[in-house]
Amino acid sequence: MPQHDVLVIGGGLAGMRAAYKAKSLGADVALLSKVYPTRSHSAAAQGGIQAAMTSEDSWETHAFDTVKGSDYLGDQDAIEILCREALDDIIELEHLGVIFNRTPEGRIDARAFGGTSYKRTCFVADQTGQVLLHVMWEQLVGLNVKSYEEWFVTHLIVEDGRCAGCVALEIPTGRLEVFRARAVVLCTGGLGQVYQPSTNGLAVTADGLALAYRAGATLMDMEMVQHHPTTLKSNGVLITEGARGEGAFLINSKGERFMEKYAPKMKDLASRDVVSRSETIEIREGRGMDGCVLLDLRHLGPEVVFKKLSQIHELARDYANVDVLKEPLPIRPGYHYLMGGVKTDVDGRTWDASGGRRWQGVEGLFAAGECANVSVHGGNRLGGNSLMDTVVYGRRSGAAAVGYARSVDWVAVNEDAYKEQERRKIKAIFDKPPGLRAADLRQEMGTAMDDGIAVFRDEESMGNALRTVRSLKEKSSSVSVHNKGHVFNTDLLSVLEMGYMLDVAEVVGVSALNRKESRGAHARTDYPERNDAEWLKHTLVSWTPEGPRLDYLPVTLTRWEPQRRTY
Ligand SMILES: Cc1cc2nc3c(=O)[nH]c(=O)nc-3n(C[C@H](O)[C@H](O)[C@H](O)COP(=O)(O)OP(=O)(O)OC[C@H]3O[C@@H](n4cnc5c(N)ncnc54)[C@H](O)[C@@H]3O)c2cc1C
Repeated sequence: MPQHDVLVIGGGLAGMRAAYKAKSLGADVALLSKVYPTRSHSAAAQGGIQAAMTSEDSWETHAFDTVKGSDYLGDQDAIEILCREALDDIIELEHLGVIFNRTPEGRIDARAFGGTSYKRTCFVADQTGQVLLHVMWEQLVGLNVKSYEEWFVTHLIVEDGRCAGCVALEIPTGRLEVFRARAVVLCTGGLGQVYQPSTNGLAVTADGLALAYRAGATLMDMEMVQHHPTTLKSNGVLITEGARGEGAFLINSKGERFMEKYAPKMKDLASRDVVSRSETIEIREGRGMDGCVLLDLRHLGPEVVFKKLSQIHELARDYANVDVLKEPLPIRPGYHYLMGGVKTDVDGRTWDASGGRRWQGVEGLFAAGECANVSVHGGNRLGGNSLMDTVVYGRRSGAAAVGYARSVDWVAVNEDAYKEQERRKIKAIFDKPPGLRAADLRQEMGTAMDDGIAVFRDEESMGNALRTVRSLKEKSSSVSVHNKGHVFNTDLLSVLEMGYMLDVAEVVGVSALNRKESRGAHARTDYPERNDAEWLKHTLVSWTPEGPRLDYLPVTLTRWEPQRRTY
């Protein structure tokens, strides 16, 4: 049985950052990932990473922009840490080898992004995530960090209230193995495929969220899902906010720059929830074209487009048959990001280490990155803040996991019993008679979620989505597989992923229906106003045999009192 002091599950930017920190502190750490680590969704990040690097800017302004962007649902202690520590992290990343774009004077360049007071988004052309991930991977390889690639986690082991490792399946062989650890850091990313269409990669299937939820951790603010204003209609592919950051703007079918009406000051660079709502109103009121509005880049010219947005030029040409230098590009809001996640403190602990019992968690289990909710994004994330979240809180979680691992003994784990339990689970799937396929459920769930719990929502639309998810959950017990082999059985994996996604979709539905106000991405047409008196609080959901249980936690305010939010 492999064992490590610290086991990091997930090879995206958060996982690599956690593993790098743990290894730098001298710990025995391993990274385990279902996809080859550099293929994680982090590699798809285009626009950039936020840090207040310019002289007119400050971390305090970055923090205020983030608090306001979150519609005051973000925890301000966590936001202060994010924005303060971002500065040193950018320098460290640069020293490790990230070739950020530079100004003519040789300083790290920054572009404008939505909802920010200054140009603050550091970038490597429109391939920022790819470069960050490859540089971190190079470092891990250099440090000889043990990496288990193409291992799929099926179960988190909890013994005596402590997380003691996991059971995983080796994808190329189908072998089951128990991994023992003193501390586990969960960095498994978001729930992207719960929605169709989605900007997220096919492997983003809510696994860690469901594993942690089933193991006893708390999911927080799961109603807060972000629709990005600029995605392609045909397949959900993302067109980075960096395009508007470089000066592109939105127009409707009459050629009007409609954002001037909805956000007179920040216009096209208002925060994402605001822009997505404005686009949806334009489309619904008949000023769209074929369910889209238009993103106009023509005036930027080849110099800017080829130097800073070359990938966008290619994506538009390949997927929409549009040359952005010659004609505007049809785009619309599409599912993009989960603000909610596994509730953690500012060191990634999923349990309440203060000695109180303010929320339910699992000792020894840490979480960071998109699967976690330390609550820096609250009701709406600012572009560029997610990569920084993975870097700052990945590092902090890695360090805290080492500290924890050194303070505790090994927990005994019955290896054979856990393997047998998972073997039986898989056999039950193989034994199902031919019938329903996971792909059928996936499409139905994705469409229902995007119809019911998207840019605008109300009691009826959310109720419909939740009912569909619950009926699919019942049907899912009869889903079968064609492939009953052991080598690269993606048919089997998609059944397991479907189970994760349905559990998490149900939590999104329950959380959304419950919040009776509008805040950030949660825009209810039946409760159109923000209601601080009753709803300035986090939604907590924990697993029970009867279904999801709801609780609440106050939002941490430090120096910014809630104000009216306009852009
Ligand atoms: C198209 C796109 C563009 C974006 N652009 C930006 C941007 O410009 N700036 C910004 O700040 N943010 C951006 N984001 C958001 C940001 O990229 C992500 O939130 C962030 O990279 C998530 O990193 P992560 O490490 O948490 O997860 P991921 O990078 O998604 O990695 C998850 C890891 O978990 C592993 N895993 C999952 N389930 C299992 C399992 N069952 N067993 C084993 N391993 C498992 C996977 O193999 C993978 O390695 C973008 C997102 C998308 C989709």
